[in-house]
Amino acid sequence: MRNTKARRDILGILEEYDYPLNAEQIYEKLNEDYDKSTIYRNLKNYESNGDIKSIVFSDKIKYFFKGKGHFHFIYCTECKKFERFDLCYSEQMSKYIKERLGFKVLTHTLYFEGICKECQKITEDGQYGHLNQ
Ligand SMILES: [Zn+2]
Ligand SMILES: [Zn+2]
Repeated sequence: MRNTKARRDILGILEEYDYPLNAEQIYEKLNEDYDKSTIYRNLKNYESNGDIKSIVFSDKIKYFFKGKGHFHFIYCTECKKFERFDLCYSEQMSKYIKERLGFKVLTHTLYFEGICKECQKITEDGQYGHLNQ
């Protein structure tokens, strides 16, 4: 069934890449020529089923990702690239959540927004002038 195949393909892409992708990027990476509306609709379904998670950064684009466990991402607002890193949140934060908020944490996802090394270099040539302030 086509729906099953779409599901396998789309979730497969997200699994393969291991970092968040937006609908447009998923569309480009799919070998099969799916309708964009099919992709959007499917992503929406997977998200409400809890198969995938999503994030929206200040550029208002929604990014989807898949996987179990905890995630730590940093996002470059200039070139729109993600990096995943392994360092977890601090003992201090963990203690705060446990003692002050009284929560037992099951999972977490950390996102940072910033400007990557390469894009900071571009800054020196004045291309992203606002960074020089
Ligand atoms: Zn960048
Ligand atoms: Zn963590």
